[in-house]
This record gives sequence, structure tokens and C-alpha cells, in this order.
Amino acid sequence: KREQDSYAANFPRSRAAFDGAGEHLLGGVPMTWMRMWPGGFPVYQAAARGARLSDIDGHELIDFCLGDTGAMAGHSPAPVTEAVARRYTELGGATTMLPTEDAAWVAAELARRFGVSHWSFTLSATDANRWAIRVARQLTRRTKILVFSYCYHGSVDETFIVVGPDGRPVSRAGNVGAPVDPVTTTRVVEFNDPAALERELAHGDVAAVLMEPALTNIGIVLPRDGYLAQVRELTRAAGTLLINDETHTFSAGPGGCTRAWGLDPDMVTIGKSIGGGVPCGAYGLDAGLAERILSDDSADIEDVGGVGGTLAGNALSVAAMRACLGSVLTDAAFAGMTEVAAGYTESVRAVLAAKSVPWSISQLGARAEYRFTPEPPVTGGESAAAADVDLDEYMHLYTLNRGILMTPFHNMALMSPMTTKSDVDAHTAVFTEAVSELLGE
Ligand code: PLP
Repeated sequence: KREQDSYAANFPRSRAAFDGAGEHLLGGVPMTWMRMWPGGFPVYQAAARGARLSDIDGHELIDFCLGDTGAMAGHSPAPVTEAVARRYTELGGATTMLPTEDAAWVAAELARRFGVSHWSFTLSATDANRWAIRVARQLTRRTKILVFSYCYHGSVDETFIVVGPDGRPVSRAGNVGAPVDPVTTTRVVEFNDPAALERELAHGDVAAVLMEPALTNIGIVLPRDGYLAQVRELTRAAGTLLINDETHTFSAGPGGCTRAWGLDPDMVTIGKSIGGGVPCGAYGLDAGLAERILSDDSADIEDVGGVGGTLAGNALSVAAMRACLGSVLTDAAFAGMTEVAAGYTESVRAVLAAKSVPWSISQLGARAEYRFTPEPPVTGGESAAAADVDLDEYMHLYTLNRGILMTPFHNMALMSPMTTKSDVDAHTAVFTEAVSELLGE
């Protein structure tokens, strides 16, 4: 309560902007989920550069949220802003409906990084998943998809489903106006449970398993040793395609978990960070599948009705991806970001050990998250969802009130190439203070 009151007092202009925006803006925010922001209203940003973000109340915040990975490249990375400004001027905008040569460069780079050979572009990661699912259905002539309980793959209707208390699938709370109940389109199992996966795939109706190689949207849930190999084996045996959604797990390295862990999916989807701050998305598939879908007479993949969009793969998105992948989120940048994240992880772990607080911390390359559960870390969505949300909000507001922006809901921290050790030290100082106050020291 004290931190909520301080938040309202510290951010009066943001509060007023939120309160005043509801007359015509649905819910007072550009997207209604922003109403869930800790403290009851979001910070309204004024500017951002590097790993810093300033708000309309005049604070400069160290940004460990980084757009929940959308700004993993840091804010306004020069190669991206230059490429986008140049292309915007040269091409007179982004909506010509004609390709530029940047797209083939980006496809080749994604193929090199993720190991699947053929790529197509979308406007967002949500769209990449939607379209990948359609392609998988066409290729397999099956209707269902399978996801993991408490996954998030964007606002894709089929994915709003969890394993219910009695083990049966239930449509996820918050699903609004889905055209059909996801229970009829989707099978759902707990992550890290190969027996459940085998049982559900045995129905023989699953076109694709859509998977984050580590869950990131219910906090970080890492795969158990050998689990991802089992997923690959089971999907192959069942004639089901495996789609790795690397949108968030790209933090694991230059080729996401797919390359870092030597995975072999049939398809990969990605968005957000690879555009260096510009909206984008992409899905890739292996050469055999690419050939099959292009020559499938029963589906006209060139027809706009199936997968498409006039803005998908637009000149600004692909120029931004080329600059970002070519000059910002490079192998060397990932090595640096991962090292800074390791420093962050160590410093949080040291505080927890010194204070004897039974929390845990997980790291996935450039990203780390502390959680209010003891070691060993949680292994599935249901246990992850049981985290203490009040404590989450307390930590979020405590740090925000002292100049540090964490990813809301899970207090994850992401390092950009511009995040420094001194940013991490600033977090450690505030984190230590927050824990001491909690313990009444
Ligand atoms: N996939 C994953 C794993 C995500 O976490 C998200 C968003 O957070 C998406 C897809 C959808 O991204 P977008 O909202 O940019 O479409």
C-alpha cells in the first residue's frame, strides 16, 4: 500500500494522463491489457535512448523491461534509426506493397541463425504464430494444435487454454470473444511432462506443437534435462510439426534456444526484438516443408486469403531487421549481454543468500528473473502461476519508485547491448533495500 501510494505521488502526470484518456480511448490505454500495470496505471513515456527511458513526470528510469524484449537491442540503436530513416525517405513510406532487397538478406540471416531455411514476414509475433499454425494445418491436414499450460504466444485464439484443476483443458480466463472455444481446437499439457505430451499426441489429430523452448510468460520455466529431445522425438513419431516460438527465448543467444541448445524444430517463429524497436515478425520452415507448401495444389499460398497482409514484410520492418541483426544484436553483443545478465543473477543470488530469503533466480542468456519460490526452480505452468502476485507488485513498485523499470508481472530483467554493470549495481542497491524493508530490518 505504501509503495502504491508513493507510485501515485511520484508519477502524477502519468496518473492524470491515464485518468483523462478514457473518454475515447478504450480503457484509457492504447491496449486494454495495459490496465493491468502494477499500481493501477502505466508510466507514460516521453523519450528513450540506450538502456534509459524517461517519462512525462521527468524521471529517468533504468530500463530493464525493454519492451518485454521488443527493445532488447536498446532504445534507438543508431544502425536501426539510420536505416529506417533512410529507407522511409528513399521509398516514401512503408506501404508500397513491393519488396525491397533487404528481405532476402534478413531471411538468409535468420536461416543462418536458427537453422530452418525458408522465411516469410509478418507484422508481429502474434501473426507469425497465427500464420505458422495455418501452414502447419495445411501441411498435415490436421486441425488441432498443442500448447503448454500458461504459455503465451500473442493473442492467438487457439492458445488461450490451460490445464484445469481436474486435469482437463479449460479456456483461459480473459479470452474475449474467441470465434470458437479453444478446447475444441487445442490440446494442452504441462511443460516438462513427456507422458502427458505422448498421451495427447496419440490422438493423431495434432498438426503442430507450438512451444517456447523455455516458458517465459509465466516467469522463466526452464526445460528439464532431456525434455526437449523427448518433445522432438514424440512429435516426429506422431507426424506432428514442432514450432519453436523464439520471440522471447531469443535472449538465449544469437540463434535463440534453437541454436544454443542444438534443437531441430520444423518451424520457428519470432518477432519483437529482431526489429530493433520497429514492429516486425517472421516465421521460418525447413526446406522440405517449404517445397511442399509451395507446390500444394489444394492450397493457394499466393492467395491473400490464407496467410498475408499488405503491411507484412514492409520496407521499414525489413530494413530495421537487417540493421538490427547485422549491426546490433550480433554474436559479440549477445556475449556481452549474457555476461551482464550473469552479473545481475549473481548479485541477486548473493542478496538472497545473505538475507536468507528462500527465493530463486533463473537466467536465460541476456534475461533473468527472480521468483518468490525456493530452489529447485518450478518446472511447469501451474506451479509458476502460484507465485505471490502481491509480492510481485511490491517489488515492481518499490524499484520503479526508485528509478528502475522491471518487466511487469514477473520482475524480469533484460540486458541490452547498452546495459552496463553500473546499471546492474544500481538495481542491486535498490533490491537489497527492498528485501531489507520486507524483512523489517
Ligand atoms: N510469442 C511470445 C513467446 C510472446 O511472449 C509474445 C508477446 O509477448 C508474442 C509471441 C506476441 O508478440 P506480439 O504481441 O508482439 O505480437
